[in-house]
Amino acid sequence: MDRTILHCDCNSFYASVEALHRPALREKPLAVGGDVEQRHGIILAKNDRAKRYGVKTGEALWQARQKCPDLVIVPPDYPLYLRYSRLCREIFMEYTSQVEPFGIDEAWLDVSGSTGIFGGGPQIAEEIRRRIRFELGITVSIGVSWNKIFAKLGSDYKKPDAVTVISRDNYREIAWPLPASDLLYVGPATRRKLASRQITTIGRLAAVDPANLRRWFGKWGDVLWAFANGEDRAAVAEFDELAVIKSIGNSCTTPRDLEDDGDVGLVLWVLAESVAARMREQGFVGQTVCISVRDRGLQSFTRQRKLPHPICLSSEITAAAMEIFRANYRWDEPIRSIGVSVTDFSHDDIPVQLDMYDDYQKREDLAEIERTVDGLRRRFGNGCVRRAALLRDTDLTGFDPKADHIIHPVGYF
Ligand SMILES: [Mg+2]
Repeated sequence: MDRTILHCDCNSFYASVEALHRPALREKPLAVGGDVEQRHGIILAKNDRAKRYGVKTGEALWQARQKCPDLVIVPPDYPLYLRYSRLCREIFMEYTSQVEPFGIDEAWLDVSGSTGIFGGGPQIAEEIRRRIRFELGITVSIGVSWNKIFAKLGSDYKKPDAVTVISRDNYREIAWPLPASDLLYVGPATRRKLASRQITTIGRLAAVDPANLRRWFGKWGDVLWAFANGEDRAAVAEFDELAVIKSIGNSCTTPRDLEDDGDVGLVLWVLAESVAARMREQGFVGQTVCISVRDRGLQSFTRQRKLPHPICLSSEITAAAMEIFRANYRWDEPIRSIGVSVTDFSHDDIPVQLDMYDDYQKREDLAEIERTVDGLRRRFGNGCVRRAALLRDTDLTGFDPKADHIIHPVGYF
C-alpha cells in the first residue's frame, strides 16, 4: 500500500509573519535582515514585492538596498516565528503525529493512517491549506505524494497558497520535466556532475542505468536514482520538539558597563532565570552551557562547556556560566554585553541516575520552587517575584529578560 505524504511549506514565512504583525508594511517591499553586529547584515527572507526587485535571500543588506532603495528591512523576531511555526504544527498534529519539521517553516506529514477519517491526501492538503490561511493569516503551499521527495517537489511546484498532487499517474508529466537540481539534496556539485553527462532533468536521471550512477557517485548514485523514480522510502519521523529547538539563550547589553565578577554574577542570574524558565516551558534539560561576552572595546568571545549531567535550574545555569566566565575573562576592559545559552537538550522526563546529583532531594525542592515562580510570573509579570540578591543593584537587574529572548531553531544560520 502506498503511503500518503504531505509536504507543507509556509510561503515567505518570516516576511509573511512580519507583515501580519505590521499591517502598514504589507504593501511595501519587505525583508527580514540579520542583525548587523551579529550576523553581518544579510537578507534572511523577503516578501514577493521585494523579490520582484531581485532581492535575494543570503545577500548583503547593502546589495539589497541598491536593488531596491525603498526596501523596508526589519530585524528577525525568532520567538514570534517560532510561535507561528508551532501554531501550524498544532494544526498538522490534528491529522497525524508523524509530523517531521524541516527547518522552521516546512514539515512532512504522513497522513496514511488518517485518510479513512479525513479523506484522501489531496482533500487533507486542501483543508490544511485553507485552515492555515483562515486561522493564522499566512499561506502555505503543499505537495502530496507517496514519498517525501516528490511531496517536497510538489510544495515547490506551485506557490503561494496552492496544493500540487504528484501521483503515480502524473509524476512522469509533472516531476520528470523539472531540473534534476530541484530534487532535495541535489546541490550544485551533483548538478554539475549530472549536467556534464547531459542529465539535466529528473526524467533523464530516472532513465539512467543505476549501475552507471553507482559508478559515478557511489552509494549516492543509488539514492539519486531512487529519488528520481519516486522510490524514496524514508519514513516521516514522529514529531519531537528536540529536533526543532537547538538552543535557548538570552543576552543583553547591560544598562551600565559591568566592572567586576559581582556585576557579571547579577546579570547572569537574571538571564539564567529566563533561560531556565523557557527550558521548563519546553520540558527540556540541557547539558552544554555557553556564554558570550563583549567588552567596552567591542572585543567579543564565546565559550562553552559540556557538563557532567543535564541541568535546568537557574542556579545551576548561573553557576556553570560563572565558572566559564571566571576561567576565560581577565578584566582588561569593563563589559558591555553578556549572554548565556543552553544547548544539547534532552526531555526532562527521561529517567536520571540519582547518584549523578549530590543532593537529589534538595535539587527537587529547588526545581519545585522555580516552577512555582514560573507560574507566578506568568500570571503577575516578571517583576512579581525577585531574588533578594538581585536587589543589590536594581539598575543592573531591573530589565525584563523575557522581552528579548532568543530561541534558535534549526536552519538558523
Ligand atoms: Mg518556506
